[in-house]
Amino acid sequence: MSPRRLAAGNWKMNGDLAALTQIDALCDAFPDPGCDILICPPALLIHPVKGRIGAHPIALGGQDCHTRSSGAHTGDISAVQLKDVGADYVIVGHSERRADHGETDDDIAAKAAAAHEADLIAIICVGETEAQRDSGQTLEVIETQLAGSVPPGATALNTVIAYEPVWAIGSGRTPTKDQIAEVHGRIRAVLAQRIRDAADLRLLYGGSVKPSNAAEIFAIADVDGALVGGASLKADDFGAIIRAL
Ligand code: PEP
Repeated sequence: MSPRRLAAGNWKMNGDLAALTQIDALCDAFPDPGCDILICPPALLIHPVKGRIGAHPIALGGQDCHTRSSGAHTGDISAVQLKDVGADYVIVGHSERRADHGETDDDIAAKAAAAHEADLIAIICVGETEAQRDSGQTLEVIETQLAGSVPPGATALNTVIAYEPVWAIGSGRTPTKDQIAEVHGRIRAVLAQRIRDAADLRLLYGGSVKPSNAAEIFAIADVDGALVGGASLKADDFGAIIRAL
């Protein structure tokens, strides 16, 4: 049986209290969703969004976490704190964190391990730059990122992998179906060498997913859902993507 599909919205540094109406609209549109729905708002909105969701099964996640559970780390947020305010997931290793904050595969593995320790599901992001794709290094880059950023102890229950080509994020450009299938197939094969239940581990595609291309992307082998940036900000757009799952 294939794993339960996941539509994950990454709001990045967007959204405010007024945006909670988008959450209301999603709850109304999907009273009994046939897939997992996840919203990763800015951390300071997790608690109010949780209050708004009530008993609805929409899950919440952070966009990053520290490797430590508490301490003198000004400006950081721990996995334990995310869990405390109602998160069940956390994104780690997003390419914007890798680029803006110099995060390495080692950092990301430590963050994912901290997420697991706090009983959060870690969404570990991997993806090549345009230069790496153009020079034929895509699969090698993905394998190196997986080897370095998936911690020991990762399972299908506590880990999701998001393939996000850096050049596709926010650009309106997407890889071809064959390119997505090739990378997802390789990710599954690599994970199968070290994770017993890798067949059940959800692999998300991310990068310019929108209502107009979602169904085509979700039909590709080994795509178990999407990590959606810009199109997750409006309930209408995200709802259309969820319906395509
Ligand atoms: C993302 O940043 O995770 C992402 C996929 O963004 P977008 O959907 O806007 O390309």
